[in-house]
Amino acid sequence: MLDASSPTLRRSRVALCIASVAFACGAAALDLPRERTVPGGVATIALGPSPDRPGARIGDVPVLVTGTPAGWVAVVGIPLAAKTGKGSLVVERRGRPGEQKTYTIAPVKYAEQRLRVAPGQVDLSKEDLARHERERAHLAQVIATFSDEPPPTLKLRQPVPGERSSSFGLRRVFNDQARNPHSGMDISAPAGTPVVAAGAGRVIDTGDYFFNGNTVWIDHGAGLLTMYCHLDTIAVKAGDALAAGDTVGTVGATGRTTGPHLHWSVSLNRAMVDPALFLTDAVGAAPASR
Ligand SMILES: [Zn+2]
Repeated sequence: MLDASSPTLRRSRVALCIASVAFACGAAALDLPRERTVPGGVATIALGPSPDRPGARIGDVPVLVTGTPAGWVAVVGIPLAAKTGKGSLVVERRGRPGEQKTYTIAPVKYAEQRLRVAPGQVDLSKEDLARHERERAHLAQVIATFSDEPPPTLKLRQPVPGERSSSFGLRRVFNDQARNPHSGMDISAPAGTPVVAAGAGRVIDTGDYFFNGNTVWIDHGAGLLTMYCHLDTIAVKAGDALAAGDTVGTVGATGRTTGPHLHWSVSLNRAMVDPALFLTDAVGAAPASR
């Protein structure tokens, strides 16, 4: 009879687990985000088998392709500003002409928040506007980061425990003027709570920005980026390699915010998409945004 506590058996069990994980990957059981083909969502498009990983792009913007030679998948971020209807990407395989693939973007109605505030709180001063314009140009470069190797998993962890206090996609109207929709997830947590990397990756930018306050950006590979805003302190610097769960800073209230919380964004092919689609271990009771 086998003794379950014997070191030999324990070793063999571990070996079996590793083998079964490897098999699952080979069989294309990929760790993909949940698909939701709406503005602010994600489309997953099967590209079929080929010996090499194909390239894919929308216009000039490269798109994440993951999988194995048994089957590749393009994972496309759909911008909040995308029109509903047909979307398309071009797939490039070695020695073959580009092939167009299409997907359908369905309509979605995100909640709307109308606020009346003092005019001075809506209109930026000349100095603040100039600073914001400079930062916007810099952040456009950051969000265009594309490193070739796709991440080993597209499942992310919630970077801080806490309730999600506001929905992704919320349309905000201040004094009857439409503002940019809310393009991330807000998580309530006390100032000073450690914020961790949602996945493995490399820090590509840190800074103190007008709206976002102390901010960290992580490149997870192939155009999947995450952004952590309003931090009290930043614990990393550009170039740092991080494992999932490594501390990047602490929750704060820097930048334009009404109080301490983490604003967390996920960007895919330069589109801010709903972070909830990538979560496996979400903490908190808030429903996924609609
Ligand atoms: Zn936010």
